[in-house]
Amino acid sequence: MLHFTCDLCGSPMNDHRYVVKVSVYPAFDPEEITEDDVEADHLKDVSDVLEQMEASGKLELEDCSAKSLRFDLCPECRKKYLKDPLARDSGRRLKFSQN
Ligand SMILES: [Zn+2]
Repeated sequence: MLHFTCDLCGSPMNDHRYVVKVSVYPAFDPEEITEDDVEADHLKDVSDVLEQMEASGKLELEDCSAKSLRFDLCPECRKKYLKDPLARDSGRRLKFSQN
């Protein structure tokens, strides 16, 4: 039997488990070349990168690819997550609590 723990609070969970899936991907086309990219300086940069790639065998370009994250949450943390999915309140609450 599989045992899960909450990814937020670490509590062990039984069947009452919630899965959060987050996908982050570019809303633009990373492959698209604009006029700015075709300027001479940029072409030189690209050729430098290509030379480095050939030399090292590694891809040094920025990673724009889609990312998928998956979290297991207990019922309590599910509530918290849905209230504030981007944790925007976590910083503010600290300030308010001093008043
Ligand atoms: Zn939890």
